[in-house]
Amino acid sequence: MMCGKEEKLLGVQKAPGSCPYCGGGVAATDVEAKWVLCFLPLCLNNKRRFSCTACNRRLVSYPAIVHD
Ligand SMILES: [Zn+2]
Repeated sequence: MMCGKEEKLLGVQKAPGSCPYCGGGVAATDVEAKWVLCFLPLCLNNKRRFSCTACNRRLVSYPAIVHD
């Protein structure tokens, strides 16, 4: 029996724009997060994370700077 959270990397793409911290390239990482709870059904959710390919910062506010 497994409890916890599993994450599966679905792919990494280059995203438009640049890092607000260092001006490096931005990578969009698609992750499938699966919650495995002991007595509850699984919950699947896919999310996309943005991070800088140069300084590796998580770009949480990245969608806000796309139109820059
Ligand atoms: Zn950066």
